[in-house]
Formats: sequence, C-alpha cells, structure tokens
Amino acid sequence: MSYKEPAPILHDKDPLESMMKRFHVAAEYLDLDEEVYNVLKSSVKKIIVSLPISMDDGSIRVFEGYRVIHSNILGPSKGGIRYDPSVNINEVTALAAWMTWKCAVVDIPYGGAKGGICCDPKQMSLSELERLTRAYTQSMNDIFGPDKDIPAPDVGTGPDQMAWLMDEYSRARGVTINAVVTGKPIILGGSAGRIEATGRGVMVATLAALTKNKINPFNAKVAIQGFGNVGSWAALLLKERGCNIVAISDISGGYYDEKGIDIGKAIQYRNENKGTLEGFKEATKISNDELLKLEVDVLIPAALENAITEKNVNSIKAKVIVEGANGPTSHEADSIIEKNGIIAVPDILANAGGVIVSYFEWVQNRLGFKWTKSRVYRRSDSIIKQSFNNVYSISKKYKVSLRTAAYIAAIDKVSRTYKYRDGSFTFQKNGQNT
Ligand code: NAD
Repeated sequence: MSYKEPAPILHDKDPLESMMKRFHVAAEYLDLDEEVYNVLKSSVKKIIVSLPISMDDGSIRVFEGYRVIHSNILGPSKGGIRYDPSVNINEVTALAAWMTWKCAVVDIPYGGAKGGICCDPKQMSLSELERLTRAYTQSMNDIFGPDKDIPAPDVGTGPDQMAWLMDEYSRARGVTINAVVTGKPIILGGSAGRIEATGRGVMVATLAALTKNKINPFNAKVAIQGFGNVGSWAALLLKERGCNIVAISDISGGYYDEKGIDIGKAIQYRNENKGTLEGFKEATKISNDELLKLEVDVLIPAALENAITEKNVNSIKAKVIVEGANGPTSHEADSIIEKNGIIAVPDILANAGGVIVSYFEWVQNRLGFKWTKSRVYRRSDSIIKQSFNNVYSISKKYKVSLRTAAYIAAIDKVSRTYKYRDGSFTFQKNGQNT
C-alpha cells in the first residue's frame, strides 16, 4: 500500500491511530519518500514483560509491563513510564512515537520511547510499588542505558520510582549511573526545575499563543482539566502571570469560580487530601464535561488522552487550546477545531518542557555538575519560545494548523537526519549545513 492512501483505521479513539493520522498528513506535505515513511512509522523495538510481585498480604500478582522504542535516529531514546490500569501496548506505542516528534520539534538530541505497567498505583503500598519498579528495571536491564534508552516519570510515577530505577540499574553494574533516568530526586542528581518543567512549558506556550493572537494574557480566562503535576503547575504559573484561572478539575470533577480560583489553596487542599480535589469547597462543583464547554480564552487539557473528540468538540468555546496532556484531542476533532477558528497548541510542543529539562538533567549528570534553577528556567523557556516561533512560521508557510506544522517540523528533522545517517542525503547534495 502506498502511504498516499489514507492511514488504516484501527478503532475509535485509539491514540495510535490519532498519532498515525497526523504523521500521515505531515508526511504528505513534506512529500516524504515511501521508504523513509515506512522507517519512521515503525517502532524500533517493543518489549512486553510479565512481572510476578509479592504483595504485602503474601499473595503473588503478575503485572504486565511494556517498553516501546519508537526511534533512536536523533540519539538515545527518551520517554516516561506510566503506571495506570488502562495502559496497553497500543497506547505505549503511540506515546513512544509522540516522544520522537516532541524531541525533534524542540530540537533536542533524543529519539522517542515510552514504558508502562498495567497496575493501579493508588491501590498499592509504597513497598509493593518499589518491588514492582525494581522488577521492571531488572527486566529492562539490557534496554535502558544513558546512551541507549533513558526513562522518566509519567502518569502514576514520580521521583520515587526514578530513584528505585536508578538504584536497581546501578546495582546490576556495581557503579552509580545516574544519567540512566531523569526526573530523579534532586539529591540523586535530579535537576532543579524538573518537577514544574512541563507546567512551566505549558505556561510559556500559552503566553506565546495568546500574544500571537493578540489576546491580553492579563485577566485572560483559563480552564484547566487535570490537576496533577502538569495541570497544577500550569495553573499556578499562569495565575502568577495575571491570568484568571476560572476552573480546574481532576478525576473527582470540576471546580468553577468566575472570579478566579485561589490556586495556592487548591494545591494545598489537594496535597492534604490524598492528592484529590474531592470536597474542595472554595469553588462551585461542575462536571468535567461542563469544564470543557466554558466560555474561556484558554482551555488546557492536562489529564489523559482523548478528552476532546468529535463528540464534544463543537461545544468548546475557548479561543485557544493548549495541550498539557499527551494526545488529549482525537484526530477527528482536529479539523473541527480548525473550522471553528480555535487555535490549538499541540501536545508535542506545548508539553515539551518536561523532556527539555530531563535533557538538562542528563547533561548535568554527564558533566557531573549542577545548574541553578534560574539557568534551567532561562534555557527551557527560550527553547519553548523558539520552537513555538518556528512552528508558527511553518504554519504560515504551509497554511496549516500549528499541529500539522509541528509534525512537519519534527518529521522533516528526523527524516533528514535519517537520510544523512544512511548516506542517501549528503552534505554536498544538501548544499547548506542545516
Ligand atoms: P498526574 O498523574 O500527576 O495528574 C493527572 C491528573 O489528571 C490528576 O489530577 C487526575 O485526577 C486527573 N484526571 C485523570 N482522569 C481524569 C478525567 N477523566 N477527568 C479529569 N481529570 C482527570 O499526571 P501528569 O504528570 O500531570 O500528566 C498529565 C498528562 O500530561 C498526561 O497525558 C501525561 O502524559 C502528560 N505529560 C506529563 C509530563 C510530566 O512531566 N509529568 C510531561 C509531558 C506530558
């Protein structure tokens, strides 16, 4: 089948399908060679492992774990590990490819990967989670490596899991290798500014999009779906810059106040309430669905995939959507968003702050040196702004959405790198050093 034919349909709301369709659209704009198309659409490696774990009650449970390496063309593969009951190989495959495009859009020298374990971390004790993380690391002993494949946190994982992973990997080699994983606690070689990095990048991308569209960020109304790491940091930092955060939400539902929610209070409440906003009394309770339909300037989906689909996209009234989550919009909703005149800053650009600071963490580990928080902020803000401007110019040049422009930027970079590496493209033929 020629890639010029439409990408195959898998099933409704499949993140892999959404990713493939966007890839396909951008490949057509670039008139990508069929051979390169086939290389870039395939994953380099997919690993599925069974992890038998002793639970605290003495029983043994077997968990399924995944690691997908989509690409190592630009450098070692990079991508988080997700602990969630709905994790599956298709989702991990899509997330791995998104990492390839994300690293390419922000021009950092990594390929893309993703991992996951099908488990419910909220129902597990810390010691069960530690045994699970160590077992997963052992099973990926030959896959991970600071020059091969570098994991990081994602939904359901954080600095603790990264610390156990670094320790288990290092034990197997008898030497401390902290560059094997990013998102570690600072004392183990984590970077200043990593925890807030993704939310900070979302804030920078939001301000860039508002400015380009001549919307004054001061008092701009913002609704945020998801109040975990990404959503709550984005909320706090946008509020600090004068935006009015009128709605937030998490799995327990939405919370609305047209005068603006006190984000500091909401974060404190969540931290003291087992990580959830359930019962937050400082705002009116609304549903997650209602949050998406609010009359706001900016909507930030920062929870999971497919929050915005063809079923609800027509009720979105926001002028700008900034994708904090990975894959929060289904492919079918893309064209409706465009038709309705809404600007969508795509995930592979908007939430790249995390992988940028992960890259800085890896650089610092390899240098054996620590950067200050202000240096991390300055450099990561500047990369997001530059990448936004680059994607914006491509969108004007090709007259396409920011999403298609971001894919064009990414696929162009990875495909040209691939061609240089395999010899089909040469410096002489290219004529310029780009
Ligand atoms: P998290 O686990 O810290 O938070 C997720 C939040 O979403 C929680 O508040 C949860 O209650 C909420 N949520 C879950 N289901 C929901 C639903 N149906 N409706 C509303 N809220 C719901 O995760 P995170 O690290 O903040 O990641 C969020 C998204 O951002 C994911 O798509 C992740 O892949 C992406 N992302 C995260 C990072 C990072 O550095 N953490 C980097 C890039 C992208």
